[in-house]
Amino acid sequence: MDVIFERVALIGLGLIGASLSHVMRRENLVRHIAGHARTATTRNRAMELGLCHTMHDTARAAAAGADLVILCVPVSACGPLAEEIGPVLAPGAIVTDVGSVKQSVIRDVAPHMPDGVDLVPGHPIAGTEYSGPDAGFADLFHNRWCILTPPAASNPKAVERLKSFWTACGAEVDQMTPEHHDLVLAITSHLPHLIAYNIVTTAADLEQVTSSEVIKYSAGGFRDFTRIAASDPVMWRDVFLNNREAVLEMLGRFSEDLSALQRAIRWGDGDKLFELFTRAREIRRGIIAAGQDTAAPDFGRPH
Ligand code: NAP
Repeated sequence: MDVIFERVALIGLGLIGASLSHVMRRENLVRHIAGHARTATTRNRAMELGLCHTMHDTARAAAAGADLVILCVPVSACGPLAEEIGPVLAPGAIVTDVGSVKQSVIRDVAPHMPDGVDLVPGHPIAGTEYSGPDAGFADLFHNRWCILTPPAASNPKAVERLKSFWTACGAEVDQMTPEHHDLVLAITSHLPHLIAYNIVTTAADLEQVTSSEVIKYSAGGFRDFTRIAASDPVMWRDVFLNNREAVLEMLGRFSEDLSALQRAIRWGDGDKLFELFTRAREIRRGIIAAGQDTAAPDFGRPH
């Protein structure tokens, strides 16, 4: 694979930043990776893992002279970091991010971009419940979607270059407006996480069922919610603070549908329950057919 960027500044070296480093190095996509993370612990660990060629105490030092800057930090950290690196960004540089919300990132980052620097926000729809530099792996983005949400006035050449970068990382690239992205992800990702966080804490607060029973019999369905609810609390706090309207819209619809289900159970409306469960099963089959999950029983887990 040809080198696509000379010097990449990787700001944030957790699950996503570390995974990008692994795939960039494996595929030889960049000549130099200049890293930065908030704490010395993460910076040192990233160097031990060989994630970066050089490590910098500040984001500004990492970003100086980079032709690609990737912000791999919680959504609320993007604005302050953009303000810090703005003055040292080289003309022609591309700045992107991997945040799970897009309108707020553009609102917070765009004002700090100097003339001649292209902001092309992105979001790889790939992740695990693990975080930190040790969690990264090169295949994280393989056959997963990466959504780019360039603002209307973006330079098409910068968008194309970033598309080829993500394609070389193994992802399939889609493009949409930031507004649409935030709405789609509110239902496909943000709401499921909210529900998982809620059901896990509901179970933990029960009085008639002990927590040891909840754990013992978790294979009945609960276990899969706990995996989602193990995701990083800082990242998810920021998602809900920054995608408030879309999440509240989806939550309103969800609550209405849940009330309808509650009613069907109360009135013993078996037809309604059967019809709804059948429709839901079709959606699961569609996800498997689209290659977005395995058909192996129990998500392919070894027993
Ligand atoms: P993570 O594993 O928790 O790593 C976050 C990294 O950001 C850490 O290296 C942390 O450094 C660094 N960081 C935090 N605040 C910073 C600051 N102010 N300045 C510099 N570095 C800072 O998180 P992640 O899962 O990689 O998520 C990163 C981004 O990707 C988030 O915006 C998230 O929305 C998005 N995303 C996540 C997933 C997922 O499933 N996890 C999927 C797609 C997109 P320290 O370790 O030193 O604190």
